[in-house]
Amino acid sequence: MTGHLPSFVRDAWWTPPLDALGSDGASGAEVRDASTGEVVARVSTEGLDLAGALDHARTVGRASLAALTFHQRALLLKRFALALTERKDELYAVSARTGATRSDSWVDIDGGIGVLFSYSGKGRRELPNSTVHVDGPVEPLSKDGSFLGRHVFTTLPGVAVQINAFNFPVWGALEKLAPAFLAGMPTVIKPATPTGYLTEAMVRILVDSGLLPAGSLQLVSGGVPTLFEHLRLGDLVGFTGSASTAEALKAHPVVQTGVVRFTAETDSINASVLGTDAVEGTPEFDAYVRQLVTEMTTKAGQKCTAIRRAIVPAATADAVVEAVRARIAEKTVLGDPRAEGVTMGPLASTGQRDEVLRQVRALEEAGGRIVVGSTAAPEVRRADGSVDSTAVGAFLSPVLLRFDDADVDAAHTVEAFGPVASLLTYDTTGEAAALVGRGGGSLVTSIATHDPVQAVELATRIAPFNGRMLLLDRDDARSSTGHGSPLPNLVHGGPGRAGGGEELGGIRAVLHHMQRTAVQGSPEMLTALTGVWHPGATARSEGRHPFRKPLDELRIGDQVVSASREVTLDDIETFARFTGDTFYAHMDEEAAAANPFFPGRVAHGYLLVSWAAGLFVDPEPGPVLANYGLENLRFVTPVSPGDEIRVELTAKQITPRETDEYGEVRWDAVIRNQDDETVATYDVLTLVRKQHQAEPVPA
Ligand code: NAP
Repeated sequence: MTGHLPSFVRDAWWTPPLDALGSDGASGAEVRDASTGEVVARVSTEGLDLAGALDHARTVGRASLAALTFHQRALLLKRFALALTERKDELYAVSARTGATRSDSWVDIDGGIGVLFSYSGKGRRELPNSTVHVDGPVEPLSKDGSFLGRHVFTTLPGVAVQINAFNFPVWGALEKLAPAFLAGMPTVIKPATPTGYLTEAMVRILVDSGLLPAGSLQLVSGGVPTLFEHLRLGDLVGFTGSASTAEALKAHPVVQTGVVRFTAETDSINASVLGTDAVEGTPEFDAYVRQLVTEMTTKAGQKCTAIRRAIVPAATADAVVEAVRARIAEKTVLGDPRAEGVTMGPLASTGQRDEVLRQVRALEEAGGRIVVGSTAAPEVRRADGSVDSTAVGAFLSPVLLRFDDADVDAAHTVEAFGPVASLLTYDTTGEAAALVGRGGGSLVTSIATHDPVQAVELATRIAPFNGRMLLLDRDDARSSTGHGSPLPNLVHGGPGRAGGGEELGGIRAVLHHMQRTAVQGSPEMLTALTGVWHPGATARSEGRHPFRKPLDELRIGDQVVSASREVTLDDIETFARFTGDTFYAHMDEEAAAANPFFPGRVAHGYLLVSWAAGLFVDPEPGPVLANYGLENLRFVTPVSPGDEIRVELTAKQITPRETDEYGEVRWDAVIRNQDDETVATYDVLTLVRKQHQAEPVPA
């Protein structure tokens, strides 16, 4: 008997207990090697306490993640990535059993590890080193500044259940784990049964690493038919899979009544449009064909982003068919991924292959003619180097169907989730755009053209139907990441049939695991809640200059109020000559006065900002290491010769770095004139040492 695939629940490995097994000691589904048909494992959740696992996440997992800041979680993601990198050969070996070639596995395994690195970097660059994220600007709600509004994101209190499709057992799981973990939500991964053993191998490495905070990650190997009964407010489900399963899950009352946040990444009839300028012999034509064949054969076409509809000008269609046929013949070697030279493996299971064959028949019945490839059992290279065409394994040749009538519904609605694409033709750009829209909402569409007019016309019309668009031409063909590759820093998801979401990709994916709340209150309260100083809150300007304080002494609200400095015409002219900025508003009284914004000659804004630095700075060496920029600079009131300016600089946000001896301090800077009018506002960004440096010991 082959063993049961373990789950990892309540911080321990779990397999079905003996009393849950049948008389032959077996239970659950059998999962087989995609090439040889050998049983890899049995998968069952019989006897698993799912409610207990979810509770463990909400209590133990949530508490251990809440004790960490965004930056600490981000660093752990990097360490997860390093732990997986160290043992990725093990994952590659297991991945071959799912039918994945080495390059398919690279997309899944290294792609998944890359997602962890990417979120780790983004989390530390784009989120504060705290647990609350502030969104958007301060909204003043009263004339005297005593009542403000601000939006904040706080972590959802529940568990993120991640239901994944079979095609990317590593990347699919990590793409969702990374943003949930960064947000501070514990995860329960529920992989698809046919390839869940690869997800289990990945989770095992993370568990072995000893890096996982208690309860932060659990894995349920096997079916979860009662899952939704156990979910409650504050929980979230991220689903990836077929539109039909998504429909069924969405119908559950906990989703219908809005108790549980449910998002679906589902199937998508993606398109790739060839421009009318991209005739045979152009670099765009070649790039288009290369990309189409790659999308048909990578992962044996089992990619949610794969091109299902090749939309080409009628005049170029024959040439496209010939070029696709030639490229497949030249580049594709079908077989067991463990055999030398194989470029395309089997589908994930024979069940999946039979399902694809059913969908190909549906496309044929709707008028599609197979013009490249066939549905007969193909010749395949076996692991030992022999070649046969027996039905063992889930193999299928790449198939291109051609439709004479591009309007046929099936071409836009039937997903054959394998190495299958349909060729549809158009005459005008408007027709091409309309055909793309017939997909009912897609994850991605690519457009191959070197004509910006055509690209813009198509792109503006089809963008609302797509989560992502790739504009492919001779300039980016070599560097392009490709039609089918979702990137961790860009939206992955799409409208309509694609699931309706854009919750993956970048910090928006992290925020998807948090609740945005509008908070109204006094500057003092908003400062306390957000950890960001708000104008009107307590500021302390007595005692030591804040530039003398390292991070462990500096507090938000520490302030320096400078002396005043008078602006003279001589200063303005000196600055103009020194910098070469002799713009008329500073140099020509008459022309300046004719300008609607100035009373006459005025000081350069940059002169004022430079002077402000001179007014607030404390010059001696100390904990402030560098000024690395300004943000949000606005010049509000012009300054004329004879006016006086002064500056208030207040520590606004302190972000210690986890891995360095320094951190960032954001200072709120306000320049005012002699009448207390605001002249300029901006944020000064500095790097400041965490602690005082020990005085050098005299020799
Ligand atoms: P699927 O049959 O819909 O299954 C998806 C997941 O749902 C599996 O983990 C499955 O578990 C689980 N599931 C099924 N019934 C459930 C229930 N009642 N409660 C909770 N979970 C349940 O899809 P698939 O065959 O694995 O994947 C292929 C499809 O996914 C294709 O249509 C493809 O287009 C789509 N896909 C979309 C994306 C995207 O990002 N948009 C990415 C990849 C794939 P079991 O396996 O244990 O049944």
